Amino acid sequence: MPSISPELLAILVCPVTECHGALEQHDERLVCVRCGRRYRIEEGWPVLIPEEAEPPEES
Ligand SMILES: [Zn+2]
Repeated sequence: MPSISPELLAILVCPVTECHGALEQHDERLVCVRCGRRYRIEEGWPVLIPEEAEPPEES
């Protein structure tokens, strides 16, 4: 499973302009703690592109 280093994760934020929330790794996704968008990780690098984010989980 790809893993983002804590040092990198600490400086990454959600790329959505009105959000910029912190990100947490959940399995193979980075999840924004503010808006809940999910970003996939490809070859160890998160794909922080708003248009490619998965919407928040319905629950
Ligand atoms: Zn966000």
